[in-house]
Amino acid sequence: MKFVSTRHRSMRFSIDEALLAGLAPDGGLFVPELLPKGNSKVLPTTSMADFAAELLKIFFNDSVLLKVLPEICERAFGFETPLKRLNKEISVLELTHGPTCAFKDVGAQFLAAAMKHLRPDNNKPRVVLVATSGDTGGAVGCAFSGQENTRVIILYPKGRISDRQERQLTCWQKNVSAYAVKGTFDECQKMVKAAFTDSELQKNWQLLSANSISLGRLLPQMIYYAYTAATAKTSVNFIIPTGNLGNALAAVWAKELGFNIDKICLALNANSAIAEFLKTKEWHPKETIATLANAMDVGNASNMERLRDLLSIDPQMYNSLTAWSVSDAEIRETIQRVYKEFNYVTCPHTACAFYAQTKMKWSDSILISTADAAKFNDLVEPIIKRPIEAPSDLERILGRPFERKEIAANEAALKALF
Ligand SMILES: *Cc1c(COP(=O)(O)O)cnc(C)c1O
Repeated sequence: MKFVSTRHRSMRFSIDEALLAGLAPDGGLFVPELLPKGNSKVLPTTSMADFAAELLKIFFNDSVLLKVLPEICERAFGFETPLKRLNKEISVLELTHGPTCAFKDVGAQFLAAAMKHLRPDNNKPRVVLVATSGDTGGAVGCAFSGQENTRVIILYPKGRISDRQERQLTCWQKNVSAYAVKGTFDECQKMVKAAFTDSELQKNWQLLSANSISLGRLLPQMIYYAYTAATAKTSVNFIIPTGNLGNALAAVWAKELGFNIDKICLALNANSAIAEFLKTKEWHPKETIATLANAMDVGNASNMERLRDLLSIDPQMYNSLTAWSVSDAEIRETIQRVYKEFNYVTCPHTACAFYAQTKMKWSDSILISTADAAKFNDLVEPIIKRPIEAPSDLERILGRPFERKEIAANEAALKALF
């Protein structure tokens, strides 16, 4: 399988090249040259990890990773992903049982395990650079913690993430350092982008990205959708909290591969640009609005370029996609309603999926739970008026010593860390 750039289909790359580069040389995003239909024949054997190793073979057939795929998948899918039925119409697929209690653990663990085996000839020291608005940094820091010859630098906007999210970023020590940037998330992203185009840094270091455009995160994220569809008796409908469109695009790819997925609803927070795109088929990115579901605060979704690429090849896909934008007031109401109705505690992101479900009027929906509510206890506890017990993985992380460090919001401050 070769991968091409969304901007020039004539440029072809191996998966190993794509994983190491992150972004295509023309600035586009890597996409599979074709998504072969008929893969629904890959049957769920004993576990999601086995299923993943089998399905991902087609994407890694010319990769040095082919031999170690089972081992990589064991790690990425090494935690439970229970599908819980709440009533006749609603089930929840919980992707919240990984080491940092968010679905991003799947992609981060896969990427870290894959990178261990991907070593280009030059022996430059390796640095993973991440800008995070909350959960990505924690999952990436955890996944790369202790990995040999790899440093991780995480930038996050000072004062704009939850206390527990900050603890998850700043507790890894040794090879993983996190810095509170005196600026916004957009400024953090700008600093990271500038580092990637800095020739001096490039000369001395092998810079790696771990953001949601990395194929090392997207490809494994297809698995839980494909597996759920492959094990269901009838076709399934998914409602997916999404912001940068990584989580939702993975479902669209799984459907394109031929798995028995009927409809896909993208549950957005007040950042509604994607909903308007699906209505008008015209893409107008917007300024980012800060919301209670902060991990989805994205006005200009990076993976939009991949979705539009796919829709230009398969316009039928429009008929299966809908989106619903959810306000902060609706998120609060929904956290309370879902607790009363189902005795179920939901994080603000997953609440967007619960709200969208009431608008879809589908006979059966699978909602994706993207983070454990305990990570957002400051918001959720006052709404449901009871304390939330933290899962043991989170307890363990919160028990670790942590260190808050600050840097200015400019490239020079970032370069000084090298
Ligand atoms: C990152 C994140 C999302 C959004 O995922 P995308 O891939 O950006 O669509 C939703 N919920 C939580 C909890 C997240 O951490």
